[in-house]
Amino acid sequence: MLAKCEPGRTTTVSIGEAADLVTSTELKAAGPIPPFDNTAMDGFAIRSADLADAPVTLEMVGTIAAGAIPDISVGQGQAVRIMTGAPMPPGADAVVMVELTTMSEDETSVDVAESVPVGNHIRPTGDDVVEGQVVFPARTHLRPAHLGVCASIGVYDIPVFERPRVGVISTGDELLDGPGPLGVGQIHDSNRHTLLALVNAMGATGVDLGLVPDDEDQIRDAMTQAAANCDAVITSGGVSMGDFDYVKKVLTEIGDMAWMQVAIKPAKPLAFGTVDGTPIFGLPGNPVSSMVSFELFARPGIRKMMGHLEPIPTPVRGIAAADMLRGSDGKTHFARVHATPTNDGNYAASFSGGQGSHQLSAMAAANALAIVPDGDGIRAGEPVDLLLL
Ligand code: AMP
Ligand code: MG
Repeated sequence: MLAKCEPGRTTTVSIGEAADLVTSTELKAAGPIPPFDNTAMDGFAIRSADLADAPVTLEMVGTIAAGAIPDISVGQGQAVRIMTGAPMPPGADAVVMVELTTMSEDETSVDVAESVPVGNHIRPTGDDVVEGQVVFPARTHLRPAHLGVCASIGVYDIPVFERPRVGVISTGDELLDGPGPLGVGQIHDSNRHTLLALVNAMGATGVDLGLVPDDEDQIRDAMTQAAANCDAVITSGGVSMGDFDYVKKVLTEIGDMAWMQVAIKPAKPLAFGTVDGTPIFGLPGNPVSSMVSFELFARPGIRKMMGHLEPIPTPVRGIAAADMLRGSDGKTHFARVHATPTNDGNYAASFSGGQGSHQLSAMAAANALAIVPDGDGIRAGEPVDLLLL
């Protein structure tokens, strides 16, 4: 499945558009950061040797603010008042913080209580990044701190993999779009809203392709158009064994389709394949199933398309805070749980609500999926693997 999801086109986006994208080339610093020696503290720029016999009194010869040009030099027995981030004036080799000083009332001299070593509170040029340094390799996921680093090295246009456009389609005659009163046998279409939000939250672009009834021709048209206009497509519904489950039938016909049944609960039915190279994830219709299926299959596929080097999520180890019982059925269960961090760096997890695949409120209350292997379940106090959501 992942083999059919290749990283997409590369492009250059402005820094304001780059959050959550993945870099397509390495980024190098054109100059050092910090670009000049500056003070880490509000205080006085001095010569360390002058404080050897502290307490001492020094002559005040000026003030340098952040952003100012350091045009005052510090001679023997002198001090310059200096503010955090301001460039170090020539002649000074250390900063003494303001808390260790007392200025005379007329501000012509300053008493310094203690001596400080050469370099004290100075942030030297290149202390964070040296000139020419590769700050990020290609395939770096751009999180907020990365964007700050890009700005600090003056890179405002960032080479990235394009944000994939992911079409989302709901299928089902019973579905109603919008809040209108439900007719007999109708339910509101919830999957499309959940799936679009999941797609957008991971940094891809969700494209709302609406609702399609359980009609073979309409499903064929919708899929064909979606595949032509999007980089990936997610459908929900119509992939199980019912009489009107046309999604997998149509995809088998128009695509390079691998229809699957996966030995998991929920989300056993799954259709995956490509139409003209566009990956299509045919997720099951039950709301919890479609989300679990998204997490296990669609998310890794889309992450790979976004350029992530490690698209598959790694579970973390937690402890069952209550029994997570189940029957043996040959499947791995993905239970909806709430996982609370514990003092010893672990997670204590328990069911977040009813475990039916229609019980979406338990999914909303969950922050993790517990992986419960085939058997009679996990007892309170036993270890459990968790996929954090
Ligand atoms: P299906 O996979 O089409 O057999 O649907 C399985 C169950 O999920 C049925 O109870 C459907 O009514 C329900 N379902 C399918 N699609 C949606 C949707 N978009 N929103 C809410 N429920 C859905
Ligand atoms: Mg259906």
